[in-house]
Amino acid sequence: MIIAVDGPAASGKGTIAKALGQHYGLPCLDTGLLYRAVGLAVLRAGGDPDLEEDALAACDFDDNLLAEPTLRTEAVGSLASRVSVHQSVRAALISRQRDFATQPGGAVLDGRDIATVIAPDADAKIFVTASVPVRAERRFADAMAHGGHPDMDTLIADIQARDTRDMSRDHAPLRQADGADLLDTSNLTIDAAVRQAIVLVDAQLAGR
Ligand code: C5P
Repeated sequence: MIIAVDGPAASGKGTIAKALGQHYGLPCLDTGLLYRAVGLAVLRAGGDPDLEEDALAACDFDDNLLAEPTLRTEAVGSLASRVSVHQSVRAALISRQRDFATQPGGAVLDGRDIATVIAPDADAKIFVTASVPVRAERRFADAMAHGGHPDMDTLIADIQARDTRDMSRDHAPLRQADGADLLDTSNLTIDAAVRQAIVLVDAQLAGR
């Protein structure tokens, strides 16, 4: 069984995907980490994330990068969004994601193009979203909890820039796939959002 969870930055899709993985006993892949690793690898190699050849060369990143806490910063998220516009970068990361998705027993994957490109035949598809102010609040609270001093206006601008880039790129733009259910978490607690996601997935599985 494959469950596809897509949505914009800080929508809650990662938390929901992990909870779905636990609920259904499936391994979970946060595909954003792969693009983040490419972004960080380009930076460390002194390359330009907007140059396709530099970004492609960084797809050969060391897997140890995936465990680095730096990967989760907004700065690296923005780099990831820049390298992810390149078609060759997306192609270089496809087999890793498809292999994970098609492993025996199934999997949960979260990202931007899981239900549209990576696993269009997924058994259940959820598109998680939330308003920009709510997503910025979440990033703010997260940064404060990690000892940061975030600026709300900068966070809002970063989220909007990332949304625009992810939704308007030529290759695999972020969009709600056909057959995906929308889950708006703006006014939901984490528990309520997870419960709602399980209801949606169960309904999709029952309707197959
Ligand atoms: O989900 P996360 O915020 O970690 O993703 C970082 C960036 O990686 C996104 O803004 C997006 O540009 C890119 N990404 C993508 N396709 C995916 C996952 C992430 O293009 N499946």
